[in-house]
Amino acid sequence: MVVVVREGASPEERDAIARILASGAGGYIPTSIHTSQGEVFCLPRGAATPEIEAQLRSLSGVERVVPLATPYQLASRTFQPGKTIVHVGEARIGGEEPVVIAGPCSVESEEQILEAARAARAAGAQVLRGGAFKPRTSPYAFQGLGLRGVELLAQAGAAAGLPIVTEVMEPGYVAEVAALSDILQIGSRNMQNYPLLRAVGRSTRPVLLKRGFAATVEEWLLAAEYILAEGNPNVILCERGVRSYDPQTRNLLDLTCVPLLGELTHLPVLVDPSHATGKRELVLPMGIAAIAAGADGLIVEMHPHPDEALSDAAQTIDPATLRQLVRRSHVVHAALVADAAEHTNATELVRSVDR
Ligand code: PEP
Ligand code: MN
Repeated sequence: MVVVVREGASPEERDAIARILASGAGGYIPTSIHTSQGEVFCLPRGAATPEIEAQLRSLSGVERVVPLATPYQLASRTFQPGKTIVHVGEARIGGEEPVVIAGPCSVESEEQILEAARAARAAGAQVLRGGAFKPRTSPYAFQGLGLRGVELLAQAGAAAGLPIVTEVMEPGYVAEVAALSDILQIGSRNMQNYPLLRAVGRSTRPVLLKRGFAATVEEWLLAAEYILAEGNPNVILCERGVRSYDPQTRNLLDLTCVPLLGELTHLPVLVDPSHATGKRELVLPMGIAAIAAGADGLIVEMHPHPDEALSDAAQTIDPATLRQLVRRSHVVHAALVADAAEHTNATELVRSVDR
C-alpha cells in the first residue's frame, strides 16, 4: 500500500500519518520517500488492516491511498499509470522513439573508444556504452581499465556528442563513476546486490538495471524498487536473456517480459540482444524483434573492429550493422505507430523514416 502525502502537508499532519502507520503495521518504521508522484509512505503488502486504511484515508495530510496487490509498489503501474521517461542528452528513454545505446563491451584504449564513439554517433546511436569495471566470470579474463576506463569513455562521449553509460560494481565507487557517467549500469550479476542498489538509489544519475540471469520478473521489479525507495525515480529496466539449457545461444532472450512489463510497471524497458544471444548474427534480428514487442530501445555491443574486441567479440557487431539496426528499429516502430493511429498512408510514413 502506498500512502501519498498531500502537497503542503504540515509536519503535524505528516506525523499523524506516521503514528497510524507505526501503530498499525507491526514493527514497521515509517519513513517517507520522495517520488515523482510526491512524498509517500510505502507499506509491505498486507500490513495494514481495513480499519487502518480507513483511518489513513480520513487524515487531512493524506492525498490518496493506493492499495497494491504486488510486493513492488513504487515500480507498479497501478501506483503510477503514466510512463517514466528518462532524459539523457537528446535521448528520451521511454518516450516516443526507440533509443539505441551502443559501444564496445569494454573500454580498451583511448583510440579504440574514440573510434567506437564516433562510429556509434554516425550510425544513429544516442548513448555510448563501454565497460570499465568488468564483472568477468573468470578472474584471469581482462578485467577492464577501472576508473581510467570511465574517464576515457567520458572523453570519447564528449568528443562524439553522446552521453555515456557504464557499469558500477561496488557501492564505494558509485560517487566517482556517477561524477563521470550519465547513466549507471547495474549488471546482471549484481541485480540482487542490495547495498549496491541502495547506493545507486541515492545517486542523482539514472540507473540501467539489468535483469539477473536467473531472476524472475518480480525479483527484478523488487530490485528496481530498492532504487526507487531511495528516492531515485529514473530506473531503466534491461532484459539481457536468462540462463537456459541450450548452449546454442549464450542465454535465452525472454521477449515475453517486454509487453508484460508494459502492464506491470511504468519504467522504461530496454533489450540487450548482444548478451542475450552471444552471437553477432543474431543481434540484428532479435533487436528488431524486441522493438516489435514494444521495447523502448536497445543496448548493443559494437566495436569498430569486432574480431579484435578484448571481451565478448563473438557477440559484437560492426558499425555498418549498427546503422542497419538503428534504421530498422525506427522503421518497425514507425510502422506500428502508424498502424495504431490508423494512418492513411502508413507506407509513406515508413519510407520517410527509412532514410
Ligand atoms: C555488460 O553489459 O557489459 C554486461 C556485463 O552485461 P550483463 O551484466 O548483462 O552480463
Ligand atoms: Mn559484454
